[in-house]
Amino acid sequence: MRALIQNEKLKKLTILFAICSCAIIIPVAVISGIVRAASASPEDKGKTVAEKPEPATETAPPEDGNTTSKGYKIENIDGVTFVDGILIVNKTYSLPEDYNPGDLTEDTQKAFDEMQEAAAEEGIKLWVQSGFRTYDRQEELYNRYANEHGADYAEEYSARPGYSEHQTGLSFDVNEAGTNFEETKEGVWIDEHAHEYGFIIRFPEGKKDFTGYEFEPWHLRYVGKELAGHLRDSGECLEEYLGITSEYK
Ligand SMILES: [Zn+2]
Repeated sequence: MRALIQNEKLKKLTILFAICSCAIIIPVAVISGIVRAASASPEDKGKTVAEKPEPATETAPPEDGNTTSKGYKIENIDGVTFVDGILIVNKTYSLPEDYNPGDLTEDTQKAFDEMQEAAAEEGIKLWVQSGFRTYDRQEELYNRYANEHGADYAEEYSARPGYSEHQTGLSFDVNEAGTNFEETKEGVWIDEHAHEYGFIIRFPEGKKDFTGYEFEPWHLRYVGKELAGHLRDSGECLEEYLGITSEYK
């Protein structure tokens, strides 16, 4: 009788143990399953990404979507490059053939008019010698240089079509484009005052390694007063300031 009772107790204990074990084992199994599933998924995701082709890199500039060496964001919007929100055209970054603002932009023209008026009050006569140029016009100029003086000369003194800042409507050549312009009273005035109206001398002296161009004291680019003032103070050219290249591919 006593043995029978003990047997019954043992049975109850066994059942109880079994229930308890299940209560522990099942949740552990479920949790470990979840953990395994979770840890497996990033690997699967990684594989999916790696197998996809990278469409942007073929047509966009090499640094597109990244930041420059100075930490500024590079954006390519419909083939037009903006660095820190500033439209950039140089030997690295070109414009699409159909990019055509039609003329100098409103801001650029307004800033020039103000500058021209201020200069006139000091007896300095300023005029736009060459302003907005279409892609086609730049192509004509480049080909003419190449035909008359050879390809090397064209490369040195003319931008390739699509690579001229004149196509942006933000740039123009003031007065006489010539090597002695910086020594004329107009050239001296531009050097001292252009930044007050939001313009920079885009290809300053001694910056060819950055800009890709020889000194052009007559070629102005509108960037707004704040940046123009900053660059004037720091002595940096635009490529140097933003940390970008200017080299044909
Ligand atoms: Zn120019």
